[in-house]
Amino acid sequence: MFAFRESVDLDPAPRDGGRVEVAFTDASLDLRHDDGVAALERAAGVAIARLHQVHGDAVAIVDGPSAAVPTADGQVTASRGVGLMVRVADCVPVVLADAAVGVLGAAHAGRRGVELDVVTRTVERMRELGATEVRGWIGPHVCGRCYEVPAAMRDEVAAAVPATYAETSWGTPALDLGAGVVAQLAAAGVPASVVPGCTLEDPTFHSYRRDGDAAGRFAGLVWLA
Ligand SMILES: [Zn+2]
Repeated sequence: MFAFRESVDLDPAPRDGGRVEVAFTDASLDLRHDDGVAALERAAGVAIARLHQVHGDAVAIVDGPSAAVPTADGQVTASRGVGLMVRVADCVPVVLADAAVGVLGAAHAGRRGVELDVVTRTVERMRELGATEVRGWIGPHVCGRCYEVPAAMRDEVAAAVPATYAETSWGTPALDLGAGVVAQLAAAGVPASVVPGCTLEDPTFHSYRRDGDAAGRFAGLVWLA
């Protein structure tokens, strides 16, 4: 279920304790479906806030679990009892936390999202909620040696985000979206850990490039426990 899990104690600790929980799931769950999300909620022990993701740069502020699913590619919260989820199959899942004030964020950064800098928009909304010391976790995604694109597309994206410029292992134009996100977060003053794994190469993750319309979705998830 979980390919990666990390707990960070809130510091300073509130009187009733607490910690930030970060997780990335694997291909054993398909989060396109309600039953997959329900299984993840049971495993994590938290209600999950979903997004209707459209490869944009809108960021939703979430107060708690809601039947309404915002159309956005980032979400932020300062509330306990809600997990922020982004769903991916090759795009970059990013989760963010300020463990001093308990403000969380999550973003879905595909090619368009990197061009639009959705991760920085998400950090900005977290700062509006009081975050000052944000750190990030970048989850498994299609790597720069696999993500082949037309030369003109590489030029367009690299003009906006130079760190994305890449070449496939077979010598053709490519984009390294993870490197682009690392650079964007660094420019925003956010240090980030990269959770290893190329979705195209590693069948324990879902990959749209590998499986097309049959591809499931895995998730990045962050919550206050
Ligand atoms: Zn790869």
